[in-house]
Amino acid sequence: MVKLDPFANATKQVNDACDVLGIKDKGLREYLATPNKVLRVKIPVKMDNGQIRMFTGFRSQHNNDRGPYKGGIRYFNPEGGVEYMEREVMALSSWMTWKCAIVDIPLGGGKGGIYVNPKTEKLSDAELERLTRGFTYKIFEIIGPGKDIPAPDVYTTGREMTQIMDTFSKLNGNIYSPAVITGKPLSMGGSLARDVATGLGVSYCVREAAKALKLNLKGAKVVLQGFGNASTFTGEYLEKMGAKVIAVSDSKGSILIPNGAKVSKLIEFKAKTKSVVGFPGSKKISTEELLTTKCDILVPGALENQIDAKIAKNLKCKIIAEAANGPTLPEADPIIYQKKILVIPDILANSGGVCISYLEWVQNNMGYYWTFDEVAKKMEGNITKGFKDAYALANKHKIDMRRATMALAVGRVVEAFNQKGIWP
Ligand code: NAD
Repeated sequence: MVKLDPFANATKQVNDACDVLGIKDKGLREYLATPNKVLRVKIPVKMDNGQIRMFTGFRSQHNNDRGPYKGGIRYFNPEGGVEYMEREVMALSSWMTWKCAIVDIPLGGGKGGIYVNPKTEKLSDAELERLTRGFTYKIFEIIGPGKDIPAPDVYTTGREMTQIMDTFSKLNGNIYSPAVITGKPLSMGGSLARDVATGLGVSYCVREAAKALKLNLKGAKVVLQGFGNASTFTGEYLEKMGAKVIAVSDSKGSILIPNGAKVSKLIEFKAKTKSVVGFPGSKKISTEELLTTKCDILVPGALENQIDAKIAKNLKCKIIAEAANGPTLPEADPIIYQKKILVIPDILANSGGVCISYLEWVQNNMGYYWTFDEVAKKMEGNITKGFKDAYALANKHKIDMRRATMALAVGRVVEAFNQKGIWP
């Protein structure tokens, strides 16, 4: 029994955006909310003990009006089971459509995965490879450099991306096809800057938000929730812009560092002790205290559902940059808006990853590779424009940034749809 339906949530967001845009046509609303295709496949795998095990995999192709479908492949087993996972990948594919449209990259939205947890189920490397290649065989017909370009997601890595590329290339008449997938290792046609992409993108958004608020980033105080890939690089790049990290957390707890700390020192400390807790000159605080610390920029960069109505009422920041996916509950949005805190919503703030994925695909298609600075500069252009466009729309309609980014994205897809019309 599915308790929460993520796809119903995604559909509601599309309808809200249609309200902002004045789109009343029910058929068009349904078209925008519904995936074009959802493929469910059975994958038989010969396990190491000689027995056959059946797995279920999905690929949801939400919308390709602006370009080929794009989105990750996850190996996961959500609590709601296989049926829930299907609804989840449908929702995630919808969010990918909007994410690509916000930063104006010519790609659509897709998502997929296999119902399996390779960590807890302890699949061997050989079993995982047979599963990955079997899945690629089953979705071969619907993916391709000009059709649908998957990427890594929960519990998939560059290794799986390489196996998908190799399987696809061999099935495709041995045509070397690196552009069928992104998130590949550098030696397999991956792109420079992919590892820092999300944090770097968040920092570009914060820079634009600070300009909009006339907030000087020199000496601006930053609070980071989480200290993993997304938040450490956000911290490092904001530091390069002159800001100072004054509080940080990880799974072991939260700390306040009144005088601030260099991100590199925090990384060094965590590498030695496995946590930021206990960092010299810091004081342990609760999660609630961390989120409500007086600062200029709050970066929820770890988990979903962190900022509820109670926390929202006590927030003391000027900008919230949502590096994590879904850190703010819907009940908190109106409170935050009333407090005039500028939110950079997740689908815009953490879009650096998909921007670099797009640039990886472009490089693969050209067979020519850019330097780190070239890739970063191109991403900067897309993200900066995405922020400016969304901010202008928020001001024009007097709505919060979350609704503005969705409306901007949906409007761009509608524009493409109207150009093409319906055929056949
Ligand atoms: P990560 O695994 O590298 O880091 C997660 C961090 O969160 C770790 O430091 C962990 O200690 C911390 N954490 C765990 N439980 C916590 C708790 N209760 N309180 C505070 N901190 C806690 O993961 P990541 O890749 O940085 O992803 C973080 C978020 O960013 C996720 O929501 C993810 O979907 C989102 N995101 C990441 C990327 C990316 O490219 N890495 C892209 C888009 C979105």
